[in-house]
Amino acid sequence: MSPGRRFTGQGAAPGIAIGPAYLWPRRGQAGRAVAAAGSCRGEVERLSAAAAVAREGIREIVRRAGRTLTRAEAGIFEAQLLMLDDPNLVGRAEEAIRTGGLSAEEALERAGAECAAVLRAVPDESWRARASDVADVVGRVLDALAERPGPSLPSLDHPVLVVAEELLPSDIVALDREKVLGLVTQAGSPTSHASVLARSFGLPAVAGVPSACELIREGDVVAADGASGEVVVGPDPVEAEDWRARQASRREWREGLRSRAHLPAITTDGHRIRVAANIGTPAEAETALANGADGIGLFRTEVFFMGQTSLPGEDEQCRVYGEVIRCLAPRPVVIRTLDAGGDKALNLVASGGRAVRLAGGRSSQPASGHEDVFLAQLRAVLRAAAGVGEDGRAGVRRPGETEVRVLFPMVANLADVVAAKALLARAAAELDARGVVRGEVKVGLMIEVPSAVALIGLLLREVDFVSLGTNDLARLTPGPDEVPIPTVLRLVAAVADAARRAGKPVAVCGELAADPRAIPFLVGLGVGELSVAPPLVPEVKEVVRTVSRREAASLAKRLLTARPAEGGTGDG
Ligand code: PEP
Ligand code: MG
Repeated sequence: MSPGRRFTGQGAAPGIAIGPAYLWPRRGQAGRAVAAAGSCRGEVERLSAAAAVAREGIREIVRRAGRTLTRAEAGIFEAQLLMLDDPNLVGRAEEAIRTGGLSAEEALERAGAECAAVLRAVPDESWRARASDVADVVGRVLDALAERPGPSLPSLDHPVLVVAEELLPSDIVALDREKVLGLVTQAGSPTSHASVLARSFGLPAVAGVPSACELIREGDVVAADGASGEVVVGPDPVEAEDWRARQASRREWREGLRSRAHLPAITTDGHRIRVAANIGTPAEAETALANGADGIGLFRTEVFFMGQTSLPGEDEQCRVYGEVIRCLAPRPVVIRTLDAGGDKALNLVASGGRAVRLAGGRSSQPASGHEDVFLAQLRAVLRAAAGVGEDGRAGVRRPGETEVRVLFPMVANLADVVAAKALLARAAAELDARGVVRGEVKVGLMIEVPSAVALIGLLLREVDFVSLGTNDLARLTPGPDEVPIPTVLRLVAAVADAARRAGKPVAVCGELAADPRAIPFLVGLGVGELSVAPPLVPEVKEVVRTVSRREAASLAKRLLTARPAEGGTGDG
């Protein structure tokens, strides 16, 4: 038998997959009928109804996938929800219907193509990745206009390796993971959103394999290595055996990690580093526990809100926070107040039909004009901190039970902290006045805006702990990275140093906390807690176990004081 045909793409999600190919159908083409004269209003209404169906479809994805979505991944769908409100997409299509007499389908396709072209022309890769989000959103609305379901796997009696021209983020979330061994796509790259999702779902994926859909036929046996990007079609028996052996040794490595996940992460010189989990929905708390998390280091409540159609009330929030606290008990739980500004807009309907839109730079702050929303959330946290039973009734917590902490995001100055603490005190007073049992909470700040680093000494006096949001900190720190270490790490070092002097705990909850290259540096700076996506907890613990904090501290010191020529490049 001759050896299989070899192709090389880009490794997009690590892991080895081997099995029969399934060729993913192309998304259906839109109807091209031009709206009959006089039906513009009808077409605009059809478009707006279809956009509403698409919006609900995206919310459903977040609800279903909540268990596994990290903040970054949920953000992909948040951005898609935003696109549905973007005047450049649906708004532009409506305009084209009115002025050009186009059908809803044609107008939307045209507006989508224009938006995608603008995004593809941006040199920044993360903006280019959004072009496929536009295609995803447009495809959903077109499906809704045609009243047809989107592409999906047929019911198969055996698992397959999906081969596609392109897979969109919502395709990945909808895949039946019992039936999919891995993915091979013609388009895409390791940074595309579909690849980000494949990594988090543990689906091996190779992207950018030219002409994959022509070269591979349905049912062909395909072997793919999601780390190296290697793909073999029709491997001979010896090759197939070799691929299976590689697959088995990787599986063994991962099982070893899982078996140690529930043990504490202790450095080689005896310092315990807490490895907590970042979650966005209550269901993820169980995943965090199963992966050995030492607590919840960040509950992104806006992700939970985003999956709802109306604003969750105080009682419902209390039940949800109580569920997370009970699940993790006696481990600490950090609940972050709504972080819905900037690129994360939240459009929900409050009780009584009032529309609440949290968007724009200051929306994460209690003083944003939505005090009532923050007050209800803080009351719910305080009630949940008293210990909430499954029946939703609050009791008095026993000593030693879960410590509940509230975390305020996007703090930029002292006034933000003063306003946030005043609101917390008001929430407590309101509960006391109502005679409602409440607990005590520790108060912390996200340090993720550069000005907060400059004010760190002052801010630390006001709170019990700080947590570094390195995702936003890196995004908001302008300029090229310095050598020998990125500027954002210098900011982290300044905060860790100030926290040590103030005797207050410091955590890191941005993606940096899961980067094996950064972990020794963070541990060396005295960071006591790393909070990461639930599935990454076992791996992060394992990395911590290889670090000597004393040696890491001197390495960090050396890097921070080194001159560029001594320290190497700025990407380490
Ligand atoms: C961060 O900015 O690093 C962070 C953890 O917050 P989010 O990713 O939710 O903005
Ligand atoms: Mg942030």
